[in-house]
Amino acid sequence: MVEKQRGVTIWLTGLSGAGKTTICQFLDTKLRSHEYQIEVLDGDVVRQNLSKGLTFSKEDRNENIRRIGFVAHLLTRNNIIVLVSVISPYRVIREELKAQIGDFIEVYVNAPLEVCEQRDVKGLYKKARVGEITNFTGIDNLYEIPLNPDVECKTDQESIAESANKILNKLEELGYINPLLLPQFHNYSRI
Ligand code: ADP
Repeated sequence: MVEKQRGVTIWLTGLSGAGKTTICQFLDTKLRSHEYQIEVLDGDVVRQNLSKGLTFSKEDRNENIRRIGFVAHLLTRNNIIVLVSVISPYRVIREELKAQIGDFIEVYVNAPLEVCEQRDVKGLYKKARVGEITNFTGIDNLYEIPLNPDVECKTDQESIAESANKILNKLEELGYINPLLLPQFHNYSRI
């Protein structure tokens, strides 16, 4: 049993198809198996309830992010580990939330547009290319790359476990989790 858990928001930002949801699922399973209390706020799910009816205009996107940030803040201050996966394309809002929440780890889930488009997990890039959907991030809408993320996962070069472990490392380094979650390396110099 975890003695006393500290809350933190782990905010995964990146293009559609970059790997945010996949990494969150991996972390969710891993952390739960060690009895950490987790909540997941996934952009696609939130848009079906908390942010139902919002469009993809800049204004509505920011409103969506602020709502997610508000909930993440409430959970974080109640010592929950919050995993957020949402494109969140605008830098200024991400930085606003970082300042507001405090216990906040910005993770840039980075895969080149070509890779995301090739993956096309939800078939959205195809639709965006033929104009069936508009304001699609990376195609006809801006994505502002994080300038100083706490963690960067290059998902075109790393396995899912490698990307997730980078985040677990950061959580450990900052004291949010115990070292037991990470692969154990033997320090032979001590033998
Ligand atoms: P997003 O939530 O960012 O829209 P998804 O997680 O839905 O993206 O999709 C990412 C896709 O990329 C999945 O099919 C996943 O298996 C694949 N993938 C390959 N390598 C990685 C990695 N290192 N991390 C995350 N996803 C990866």
